[in-house]
Amino acid sequence: MTATKSFRSHLIVNVVAALAGLAAWELLFALFLGKWLSSFWFFRIHGLSVVGLLVVAAGSAISYVEFHGLGSQEGVVRQGEPRPRVALTFDDGPHPVYTAQVLDILGEHDIKATFFLVGRHVLKYPETAKRIEQEGHDIGNHTFTHKDLLTAKRRILLSEVDKTDEAIYKITGVQTKLFRPPRGALGPACRRALVEKGYRIVLWTVSAADWSGISPKAIAARVLRYTKPGGIVLFHDSGALVRSEGASRGNTVKALAEVIEKLRAKGFEIVPVSSMLSDLAAAEALALEDGRAAQAPSLF
Ligand SMILES: [Zn+2]
Repeated sequence: MTATKSFRSHLIVNVVAALAGLAAWELLFALFLGKWLSSFWFFRIHGLSVVGLLVVAAGSAISYVEFHGLGSQEGVVRQGEPRPRVALTFDDGPHPVYTAQVLDILGEHDIKATFFLVGRHVLKYPETAKRIEQEGHDIGNHTFTHKDLLTAKRRILLSEVDKTDEAIYKITGVQTKLFRPPRGALGPACRRALVEKGYRIVLWTVSAADWSGISPKAIAARVLRYTKPGGIVLFHDSGALVRSEGASRGNTVKALAEVIEKLRAKGFEIVPVSSMLSDLAAAEALALEDGRAAQAPSLF
């Protein structure tokens, strides 16, 4: 898998932030702190510069893992067939206000999208979860508590996934085989467990970066700039940086109509993730039939 533009931009943000922190430190050191701090040996070697470099390394590693995963990637879907189709996906809901507003806009444009739901939010806001199903959108599992799965044990993963499946089934009647790990990060043991359970692990090609507090205009510009045929776009209709909900998603809602209209103007058809998966499966079957398996678009 080659690096995506969103991976590169994520990496650049991490590295630039660390370098800016370093530069600020060096400036402070040169102007004010040097004399006083040089009585401490570890500052004499600009100890924080070493820390800064470690931060850059850690930031790069996190970027890599978030966008590429660890180990082999069986079961992972990052994008659809390179046809002019794109999937809009919404993570962390349902939320009684923002999910409802997103559903209104999708309905006005007659679009089906994909919602990766947090199990405890499904139980907390059952009416909103039901509405997602009733309006024909895809539903996927996004863990019960928005659990970080990079280092999670298999037992924890299974409990998170099963509780969410039960909640989704109880409230909406849907039995989903779509899964998205929080922050897109997944350790190899968790990935294997999900594959064994028959899940497709759906990542994305473009992050709207709507979690970062950017303006509706910036969200729309970013999505339109980076969306390519077969793209999967990540939005958030709930969530927060630390807790599993609480942040405003007003800017996501404000950007959505423009994103839809301009994607359509560029010739993209907007489809739910399940349609992209059947596209991929059909393309792979065709390639196998033709004896061109080696050229089959990779499902994994
Ligand atoms: Zn999430």
